[in-house]
Amino acid sequence: MLYYNAKIYGRNETAFNVRGGKFDTFYHSLGQMPSDATDLNGQWVLPGFNDSHGHFIGIAYMAKMRSLEKTHTLQDLKAVFTGVSGFAMGVKYDDKVLDLGRYLEKADLEALNIPHPIIVLRVCGHFAVANQAAIEVAKAFHDHSPAEQNVDFDRGHFKEEAIKWLQAPFFNPSVDQLKEEILWTQNHVLKYGVTAFASDDFITYPVPYERVLEAYQELATKDALRVRLYQQAHLKTLDLIDDFFKKGYAHKKYGRFTMGPSKLLVDGSLGAQTAAMKAPYQGTNNTGLLNYDKETLKAYLSRLNKYKMDFAWHAIGDQTTQVIIDAVREQGLFKGARPAIIHAQLTGLEEIKQMKALNIGAQIQPIFLDDDLPIIKTYLGPKASDTYLFKTLYDSVPTSLSTDAPIVSVNPFLNMYAAITRTSIKYNDLPPHLKDEALTMKEAIEAYTSKGAYFMRQEKLGALDEGFLADFIVVKDLDLNDVESLKKATVTLTVIDGEIEYQV
Ligand SMILES: [Zn+2]
Repeated sequence: MLYYNAKIYGRNETAFNVRGGKFDTFYHSLGQMPSDATDLNGQWVLPGFNDSHGHFIGIAYMAKMRSLEKTHTLQDLKAVFTGVSGFAMGVKYDDKVLDLGRYLEKADLEALNIPHPIIVLRVCGHFAVANQAAIEVAKAFHDHSPAEQNVDFDRGHFKEEAIKWLQAPFFNPSVDQLKEEILWTQNHVLKYGVTAFASDDFITYPVPYERVLEAYQELATKDALRVRLYQQAHLKTLDLIDDFFKKGYAHKKYGRFTMGPSKLLVDGSLGAQTAAMKAPYQGTNNTGLLNYDKETLKAYLSRLNKYKMDFAWHAIGDQTTQVIIDAVREQGLFKGARPAIIHAQLTGLEEIKQMKALNIGAQIQPIFLDDDLPIIKTYLGPKASDTYLFKTLYDSVPTSLSTDAPIVSVNPFLNMYAAITRTSIKYNDLPPHLKDEALTMKEAIEAYTSKGAYFMRQEKLGALDEGFLADFIVVKDLDLNDVESLKKATVTLTVIDGEIEYQV
């Protein structure tokens, strides 16, 4: 397959061919074109994006939720649910925003005339409203009713534990439903030029992780899984990971599905002030919460070392990064390990020095600045100037870009925009956060391609080079010298292993 008339990232040539799923030869100019050659009309060709952390199934799950953030009237509510073709859940309902002078009720949902189950969850997560169809499904699913004080069937109101009762039948996906969601997300990410994705899927639903695995296995063995998928195996307890190893799941590979590394949620978030910090959050005594202590992490590491499995552990607070560093220092890692800290947002200079000494990498999400920009200084005080040190990380340790989708959009261009400008698109009047910590366009691309491939342990992925896997994208409206163009750049062609997976 021959492509010509292209701007090829990192090269002077303008044409290339693909053979056997790999880049074969790059050419300066070609005379007569064969009739089956593809004219790329002067557009940019980049390596496919390797998103190093997110939640693949979670992207489909979240897409089914409808945000009621801007729902002021019942008319707005109708618009939110127009066109639903099955169960739908609205989230972030706020009775201050949708101001009826009372709580939303079942009768309001019935008036929408939607024949499918509908649940609306209040912004606090402790109160829900359901229509009759949703209530019927829940009643048929359970052999018991929720505690009387938590439910009002007439008004469709549910509180606390009764919400779980109401939601249970809708959040217990079968293998077939999981497969559907994987395929939905796959179509979604291919449009953004994401060709490889490291994903934490084991805890999206309260179902056994093996059900998730079965869904991936069935798709991958039938070649229906087209995106390269690396499962960041989230096994919350030592018992679970022991069982996982005993069953031989380490390094399992089916088609484009590869198992590993290990994932753990070692702390919480900045927004909820649950990320574990060395100093308290400004104006409080709170230093956040560690979900695992050093000794438990060492117990994980000893098992991972035995099976030569990497880790990619979530750490936002500086104390969390420190505990991981200490665990690695005391336990040691297997030879050739490629460990990573996911987020490393509040990791400071002191921790980065230690990460460098131990070669612990980072999987960062600059796009988090979009939401965090207004709270960094108020939550952290003087520590703020020692956070989001992405350039320092990039220069010190293997550092890749990722989105953590669906926490934010999977759009790589917006993530790169945040990495390069250090600003928020949402809060565009706020000044950039530590402009010196910006990546260049080139660094942002490398972090999204070759550095992602590093953590995926793919030595011939993430660059437009002879002999590399032919994963590439063609991008319209992109000017690599104009960062603003990232806001409107779109993908017109996504190719994996030389095969076209998406095309406008
Ligand atoms: Zn995540």
